[in-house]
Amino acid sequence: MFDRSLKIIDCHCDTIALFGREDYDFSSRNSTGHLDLPRLREGGVGLQFFAVCTAPVAEHHPLHRALEMIGRYRRVIEGLPSVQRIEGPADLEIARKEGRLGALLALEGAEPLEGSVELLEIFALLGVRALSLTWNRRNHFADGVGESAAAAGLTRAGRKLVRELSRRGIVLDLAHLAPAPFDQALELSERPPLVSHANAGALCSHPRNLGDGQLKALAARDGVIGLSFYPYFITGRPEASLEQLLDHFVHVAGLVGVEHLACGSDFDGIEETVTGLDDATSYPVLLEGLRQRGFRPAEIELIAWGNVERLLQAHLGPAVPL
Ligand SMILES: [Zn+2]
Repeated sequence: MFDRSLKIIDCHCDTIALFGREDYDFSSRNSTGHLDLPRLREGGVGLQFFAVCTAPVAEHHPLHRALEMIGRYRRVIEGLPSVQRIEGPADLEIARKEGRLGALLALEGAEPLEGSVELLEIFALLGVRALSLTWNRRNHFADGVGESAAAAGLTRAGRKLVRELSRRGIVLDLAHLAPAPFDQALELSERPPLVSHANAGALCSHPRNLGDGQLKALAARDGVIGLSFYPYFITGRPEASLEQLLDHFVHVAGLVGVEHLACGSDFDGIEETVTGLDDATSYPVLLEGLRQRGFRPAEIELIAWGNVERLLQAHLGPAVPL
C-alpha cells in the first residue's frame, strides 16, 4: 500500500450541509455522509476545502443561508483543537507541523453576495478563502454551465469581483462556470485560478468538465484542477471504476503536466461514488492507483499536496493594490 504518511489536500466537499444535523457529528465517525474528522484522518487528508453552497435553492435568501452555514461551520470547527483554519500564510505550515487538519472555507457560487462586491470583504473576515462565481445558473456575476448555449460572459459586477478576488488573495474557483465567462475570468485573474471539482471533457463530455483547450488555458496561468470522484463526470453514468478515474489523471497529466493536478472529491455533494472510493478513508487507494499507473513518488506528492500548496501560497497573504 502507498505511504500513509503522505498528506492530501482535497479541494471540494459539501459536508457543511450535514453540520448541525442530529444524525451527524463531524468530530466522531458517522455512518452518514462521506467524511468527518476520523475518516479524514484515516484517509491521510491534511487539508480539506469546505464549501458553502446555497444553490439550487438560492432564490430564498442566499446571504442569510450562507451566514447560517458559516455560523454552523465555525461553531463545529472552532471547538476542535486538532483543526486549523487556513486563513493566513502561516496556517498551512502550522497545520502540517502540528498534525492538525487544515480547514479552508469556500463559497460555491457567489449568490450570497447578492450582487455586491463589497460583501466579499465581509466573507473574507468570516474566513472565506476561495470562491466560485456561479453554481450552474446565471447570477449577478456570470452564467453557469447550466445556461448552456444561451450562456453569456461576465457581467460588469463579475469583472469587478474577479479583480477584487485577486487583490484580496481569495482563490478564484472556475468550477461550474460556462465557457465564455471561464475564459474571461481566467484572463482577468492576477493570481493562479483553481477549478475545485471537474474532470476531463475529452474523456467524458459532461458540461461540467473542461475541454483540452480550457485545461491548457488553466495550466498556462499556473492554475490547478481538482479532479472529482463523481461517476457522472468520469463516465457519464452513475458508476465508474478507479481505473476510469485514473484515466482522467493520466489524460490531464499528459496534456498539461502533473503540476496542475489535484483532488476535488465532491464528497457529500454526490450520491454515487467511484467503486472502491467510498468515502474519505479511500485516498490511499487512489494514490496506490496513481503509482501503478506510472506516476513517480514526487509526482504523486504534487497531486496529493504540492500543487494546491503552491496555489495557496500565491494567495494567502496581505491584500495587494491592483
Ligand atoms: Zn459543485
